[in-house]
Amino acid sequence: MEKIESFKVNHELLKRGIYVSRKDYDNKTGECIATTFDIRMKEPNREPVINIAELHTIEHLGATFLRNHEVYKNETVYFGPMGCRTGFYVIFKGDLKSTDVVDIIKEMFVFMKDYEGEIPGADPKSCGNYLDQNLTMAKYESKKFYEEVLCNLKEENLVYPN
Ligand SMILES: [Zn+2]
Repeated sequence: MEKIESFKVNHELLKRGIYVSRKDYDNKTGECIATTFDIRMKEPNREPVINIAELHTIEHLGATFLRNHEVYKNETVYFGPMGCRTGFYVIFKGDLKSTDVVDIIKEMFVFMKDYEGEIPGADPKSCGNYLDQNLTMAKYESKKFYEEVLCNLKEENLVYPN
């Protein structure tokens, strides 16, 4: 079987940041219709990953933020965690670069780090494992990524290593 695109990234050199993971093209016109971003919150295999409960809460908060955003509610295709628990994927419509989405990703992490109140969708009717949540740690992880990475983005945090 062919190695899929995201397995070709050298995870040993990968830092934290916002990276273009893949682009999807229209079969007929050939134009790029969607861009998948790798929001990498942890250095792979070099630091502890995000615990499941806070990963789950970040998913609920991030999805709620994007689906309610005045502009991005119409641009967002998907937001969800990576199985390795080092980050998230977000898919936006259109042909985009990392620098195009820095502002919206920063806005999302400010929303999550400062969030107060009930976790959206954390009830048995709306979620498949509603008790497995941790808002305090979700806020901690969001604040850490925002301050250490998003407020200090360099080339190595925006473009995959060779
Ligand atoms: Zn859930």
